[in-house]
Amino acid sequence: MAITLEITPLKQWLKSPEGPLLISGPCGAETEEQVMSTAREIAKSGKVTVFRAGIWKPRTRPNSFEGVGSIGLQWLQQVKKETGLLTTVEVANSNHVAEALKHGVDILWIGARTTVNPFSVQEIADALKGVDIPVMVKNPLNPDLQLWIGALERINNAGITKLMAIHRGFYSFEKSSYRNAPQWEIPIQLKTMFPQLPILCDPSHICGNRELLLQVAQKALDLDMNGLMIESHINPDAALSDAKQQLTPQGLSELLAGLVIRKNTSSNKEFTGQLEQLRTVIDEIDEELLRMLMKRMDVVEKIGEYKLNNNVTILQLKRWMEILESRSASGALKGLDESFVKKFCELLHEESIRKQTEVMNNKALK
Ligand code: PEP
Ligand code: MN
Repeated sequence: MAITLEITPLKQWLKSPEGPLLISGPCGAETEEQVMSTAREIAKSGKVTVFRAGIWKPRTRPNSFEGVGSIGLQWLQQVKKETGLLTTVEVANSNHVAEALKHGVDILWIGARTTVNPFSVQEIADALKGVDIPVMVKNPLNPDLQLWIGALERINNAGITKLMAIHRGFYSFEKSSYRNAPQWEIPIQLKTMFPQLPILCDPSHICGNRELLLQVAQKALDLDMNGLMIESHINPDAALSDAKQQLTPQGLSELLAGLVIRKNTSSNKEFTGQLEQLRTVIDEIDEELLRMLMKRMDVVEKIGEYKLNNNVTILQLKRWMEILESRSASGALKGLDESFVKKFCELLHEESIRKQTEVMNNKALK
């Protein structure tokens, strides 16, 4: 059964400047002074619409800074009153929801550590029944699109249609320069399934440092994401959580000024004409690729029958290693990205094995 989400378009409920929706503020609210001074500076740019601050911080180890709790919500009320910025906080249980609603928080967000747990998400959804408040759902820690969709569905089923998703990267065992691997294909899949669902990117938690922020934020915009959530702090080096990734308000302004905002279409006749032509070429190439794949699969089937008749195993490790090696070398000579060629070969191999297993199973049934 196809999954549907009932979404109220962002433009209908949020007034913000042209371009991507910008959310910024500290990882965590620490003191009234830190919250207020950060908010005042951020508001000056006129580009940021929503002020974020974690009030209850989920931390990996106990005895780390776990947030100031409800008192911080009063500081956020002050931020709204003084700067006009809307406010958003992370909620992880029904008590957080009740506190946030009581203090007039404008938007709630569900953090990555909560999205992984359907019990917690359902508890939040139940607490939101009959309440009209926008909710943003961060992706779960692990790269599980279904879990992310499940959380969005639970909130949507509670009657929340002012819904957004936040892409904050995924935990990975592989060492990389990112704190959380972006795995852009996952938010792209989400967008493909739910074109009407706004998706924001959180470069701060993807990068884990300040240096990569601009590059990741730009990539998110180039992938037509609807906005950015970026952590900022009046004195990042002294921050009680996520010190390495937060920007000063000044740093935030510089980053925003460095972003190239592209449109998702152009009315320029020459551009659309050229694009049409190039797309026709791509269509033809894809058709040819599919025909070649069909031919390859026919041969794979024959090989499957041959192996079966000669009582030989489907998996031939030596041959598979040779294929991987030779295709990688040939791909490299043609200027193709190595990991792309490897992934492509793996997909082909997986399908070939499936096809040959089918051949064997069919024969066994006869
Ligand atoms: C945060 O936004 O400060 C946070 C805790 O993020 P995440 O849930 O993405 O780890
Ligand atoms: Mn943080």
